[in-house]
Amino acid sequence: MKILMVTSEAVPFAKTGGLADAVSALSLALAKEGHDVRIVMPRYYRIDRSKLEALPGPMGVHPGYQEIWTGVYTAKLPGTSVPVYFIDHEQSYGRDGIYGVPGETDFNDNPQRFSLLGHATFQLCRKLEWYPDVIHAHDWAAALPVILLKFNERRGNFAKTASVFTIHNIGYQGVYGKHLYPYTGLSWDHFYAAGFEDWDRMNFLKAGIISADKLTTVSPTYAKEIQHPEFGFRMDGILRYRSGDLTGILNGVDTDTWNPAKDPLIAKTYDSKSLAHKAANKEALQKRMGLPVDPDVPIVGIVTRLTDQKGVSELFGPTYGSAHRICEDIKLQMVVLGAGELWCEHELESLNNALPNFSAYIGYDEGLSHLIEAGSDFFLMPSRYEPCGLNQMYSLIYGTLPIVRKTGGLADTVENYDEKTGAGTGFVLEHLTPQSIYDTVGWAAYAWYNKRDHIEAMRKRGMGLDFGWNVSAKAYEAVYKDALKSLETR
Ligand code: ADP
Repeated sequence: MKILMVTSEAVPFAKTGGLADAVSALSLALAKEGHDVRIVMPRYYRIDRSKLEALPGPMGVHPGYQEIWTGVYTAKLPGTSVPVYFIDHEQSYGRDGIYGVPGETDFNDNPQRFSLLGHATFQLCRKLEWYPDVIHAHDWAAALPVILLKFNERRGNFAKTASVFTIHNIGYQGVYGKHLYPYTGLSWDHFYAAGFEDWDRMNFLKAGIISADKLTTVSPTYAKEIQHPEFGFRMDGILRYRSGDLTGILNGVDTDTWNPAKDPLIAKTYDSKSLAHKAANKEALQKRMGLPVDPDVPIVGIVTRLTDQKGVSELFGPTYGSAHRICEDIKLQMVVLGAGELWCEHELESLNNALPNFSAYIGYDEGLSHLIEAGSDFFLMPSRYEPCGLNQMYSLIYGTLPIVRKTGGLADTVENYDEKTGAGTGFVLEHLTPQSIYDTVGWAAYAWYNKRDHIEAMRKRGMGLDFGWNVSAKAYEAVYKDALKSLETR
């Protein structure tokens, strides 16, 4: 099958979250299955042009309101034969930031920037004379190609092209004032309640959901949750309407990068048979974070974007957050790596000063995130909602027991500890409150001090689980086939 991934992020080129990991890893897994997979994305300012190859000639894109001249660069996804095409347009992408400058509001010309990506997708195929069987678009910023395919482009060489749209996080929808709608190049016919219109504004995600042949999201539980008002961010109605076309497929993990047996970013490699070597990572983590070196106290690790979705208010909220109380009452150490909302960064700074057994590093640090996974005993992830989540899977692979809220992909991947039998792979809390986080961390610490045999067995159980992308790639393949079949029967 010829598959074109359209995305605003893909590692190692541009990343703000798990979407970037998923797109690249899925592309690689599908390529390994023998598919012709290619990726198209913007050439942001940070992606060094000198490391890319330029395709000859400019590429004219015609979104409708004017002709835009772009360049196209290409590179292979590192270590693979998967081509990545970068749309180059100084005015749209020649600035720092993917959706906006971190800590500030999004760029107000995002509709122009990502409409350009949508239109350029089709021009690129024409330029390459390569026409995909499936356009697989990811999240709101890549929704436009799916919409254009349905309403404008499904003819000629694209007559048999099907579309699949994946929702990685329904909290981000691309909602903008309707004065920017003309930049999509679509006629006003599509600006109505069952289309692009959303309370008199435009909503890219909504139009993508309505237009795609098939929809997926990144875990089976999240696929159910987003059909309910609590998790659907106002899209629950149209998702219920399209529920027959919606599948939840758990993201896999890049097991080349996240493998304690060969991870170059940790202090000492280990596997389930040499778990004792994990202690060297614990020591290295304690040293790195300036905490007392003590093998006999459990470490609770956290790596997260500091945003409300991740339960950071319940953890670090001034006066009511549970982290302060956890560190005061329970004999443990807490290690945090995160960046995001300013109030939260400030709270972490003050916890750093107030608590001897708490250490936070504010910023983005790939190496430290690996060391936290390897050196911690527990990994805390009390998300308000979690489409899939990667860190709990990394934790399981690294023999670090996840403490998670029962939602989305967390519910699909972590089995709650059973004190009587010792079964389970982690600790699960039902409701997101400071008290339930406190209680569940307390319960995990209790098990660490009193049921060490259960803890060790759970670690090994987690390390034996298979989170490889090959499983997910097969599931996507089935969705692609369904999407193509739905075109035939139309
Ligand atoms: P989301 O995509 O919602 O942020 P995921 O758990 O799916 O959550 O993926 C987050 C990814 O980003 C993981 O690979 C995680 O290790 C990484 N990450 C998040 N914050 C940081 C940080 N401050 N430093 C390093 N890596 C981080």
